[in-house]
Amino acid sequence: MSRIASVLIPMPLPEAFDYAEPEGMALAAGDQVAVPLGPRLIRGVVTQLREALGGNRPLKPVAEKLDDPPLPPGTVEFIQWAARYAVDAPGQPLAIALRGARAPKPRPQRVVRVTGAQPARATPARIRVLEAAAAGPIPPADLARAAEVSSGVVKGLIDEGALVLDLIVAEARFDAPDLALHGADLNPSQAAAAEVLKALVMAGGYSVALLDGVTGSGKTEVYLEAVATALAADPGAQVLILLPEIALTQAVIARVAGRFGAQPGEWHSDVAPPARRRVWESVAAGTCRIVVGARSALFLPFRKLALIVVDEEHDGSFKQEEGFIYHARDLAVARGKIEDAAVVLASATPSLESLRNAETGRYRWLKLTARHGTAQLPDIDLIDLRETPPDPGRWLSPPLVVAMAETWGRGEQTLLFLNRRGYAPLVLCRACGERMTAPDTDSWLVEHRYTGRLVCHLTGFSMPKPLACPHCGAKESLVSIGPGVERVEEEARALFPDARIAVFSSDTVFDAREARRMIETMAAGDIDILVATQAAAKGHNFPNLTLVGVVDADLGLRGGDLRAAERTYQLLAQATGRAGRKDRPGRALLQTYAPEHAVMQALKAQDRDAFVAAEMAERELAGLPPFGRLAAVIASGPDAAQLDDFLRKMAEAAPNAPGVAVYGPADAPLGLIRGRRRKRFLIRADRGVDLSAYMAAWRARVRPSGQIRVAIDIDPYSFL
Ligand code: ADP
Repeated sequence: MSRIASVLIPMPLPEAFDYAEPEGMALAAGDQVAVPLGPRLIRGVVTQLREALGGNRPLKPVAEKLDDPPLPPGTVEFIQWAARYAVDAPGQPLAIALRGARAPKPRPQRVVRVTGAQPARATPARIRVLEAAAAGPIPPADLARAAEVSSGVVKGLIDEGALVLDLIVAEARFDAPDLALHGADLNPSQAAAAEVLKALVMAGGYSVALLDGVTGSGKTEVYLEAVATALAADPGAQVLILLPEIALTQAVIARVAGRFGAQPGEWHSDVAPPARRRVWESVAAGTCRIVVGARSALFLPFRKLALIVVDEEHDGSFKQEEGFIYHARDLAVARGKIEDAAVVLASATPSLESLRNAETGRYRWLKLTARHGTAQLPDIDLIDLRETPPDPGRWLSPPLVVAMAETWGRGEQTLLFLNRRGYAPLVLCRACGERMTAPDTDSWLVEHRYTGRLVCHLTGFSMPKPLACPHCGAKESLVSIGPGVERVEEEARALFPDARIAVFSSDTVFDAREARRMIETMAAGDIDILVATQAAAKGHNFPNLTLVGVVDADLGLRGGDLRAAERTYQLLAQATGRAGRKDRPGRALLQTYAPEHAVMQALKAQDRDAFVAAEMAERELAGLPPFGRLAAVIASGPDAAQLDDFLRKMAEAAPNAPGVAVYGPADAPLGLIRGRRRKRFLIRADRGVDLSAYMAAWRARVRPSGQIRVAIDIDPYSFL
């Protein structure tokens, strides 16, 4: 009897399509296949096979079983689970999962190798070339460089037959981790935490532990022991370490490589496509046993995932807000459950969600309350900007400048933290008051001095800074309002002309290699003052950094969404936590206009528990996460009347369900992006409600017409 294959296609389609399995193809679930879709052949993945009962309309046959590795059952199940959770088409997470499979293969490289034939004339240059080539195949240009000769010498040896040209494809190979190597000698509290994690890993099966330890307590050292245990317990076991930023992946890759004597697989948006393919295939084959990556690494085709570590688990960067909307920490826990794996969530400032799960006993709670060794947590002081304001047009207050001077005088480093890219967040016309905004988006244009452009950070739109106001035509009337990192750097240079100053933001550090270089330069002490956005303010260890100045501690509190206080606390605790490692005491100064605010007081007193307790009580009273659940609907369209009409229908279609309240529609704070008007619903539900099912039922009742798009965001982090 013939069989029917359900094939999932990496496109936003509601479900898998059925195809007939051709005679003799012997498909299995997870296989990658090519199937006809309209006039095209397209790659898909078989999710299920069933016997054809006959009598049905004839199905198109699967065109081809591809030679690429199949997706393991856990990966397929995870993709389907994630789609259901996010109320999105399963083809969306599948597209993420196949990113590596669809990347181009590494191209063959031209190399030369020795043939054994001796050249007619053996000049010293030629001998050097042959000696260098004896080590193995090498590209001709590299060989010439290694032997310090011109390319003509290499070519001459090829012409004479002493060297031969060849094409090779670099093999997809990851060295096995060396499990005989040892990590650091753990201190007693680290050892106690590591023992619990090791026991959870050895017990096998699904578990979640929250590794809650102050900055510098050695969380990385502790979870690397759990990684070692997982790898040693089963020769096929694989481990995934997730990090929120590319810059942080670089630091952890170096530590993993040091601990296990082998490079882990690296996975993030900055990895070149052929390297991505190499990692993808090696993970599918089980030969890449450790992956260090950003959130999308969660969708890799692990054969036998034994342990997932989510480092800096509180970090908002784990939330993907465009395309397929998901939170990598939450999905990591789900994947752990599907794969029967241990999950470790690590942070110095865990999310309230994870703390709540730890409090109620759903997660094992492991605490590290002190820094390793003699290192102390920094002293934190508030600078009241109402009392000691900076000079007009300046952003660093006198007490901060004095502290910077003292720090520099001792030969130590300062980190100035400001979570704002560019030179100035706003440019306005002194003559007519016009604010420069993006043409089709509700957002101010940010001035960037390095490039001389005004940039929209939402859409990437940019234009040269005009000489005259585009609105009133006044010449030289445009003024820059407020500071970004570039402007703070300018001020620091004016104050400390002899200091070595650098800026770390996504504009100055645009790829993984540059990030690594900057981190190494800073760690080596070759930068005196680093002005940084959050890209550099988390997770790193800079032994000679003893002063952290937070330029605008109030920044994250403005706008005030549900998590504003929590996020500000976490970000500033992380940033200030960079100060004082090794044996040098550190200091952090927070510039604020609201020193009485609960967040500032908690930071100063270093009393996380009191802050968390107050925040939890407020959330509980309001039924907000982690005590209730939220979802958002963002509807957008180019035509305001059409959008309103659709939203009316959508509001009427909202199902009635106990424990669910629907608010809106309301104008989104960002009412216009790329020419599309935006409106939102907010949905609050009691904890026990299956909010994904509710949202799916709602969406099934309305069909967006025309150019209207509807996005559903389960557990939203952005309310813009
Ligand atoms: P966390 O992740 O908690 O911020 P890390 O694991 O990065 O902490 O440790 C902070 C610093 O202390 C690192 O430089 C690390 O190498 C060092 N360290 C931590 N624990 C030990 C230990 N047991 N022995 C030696 N060095 C340690």
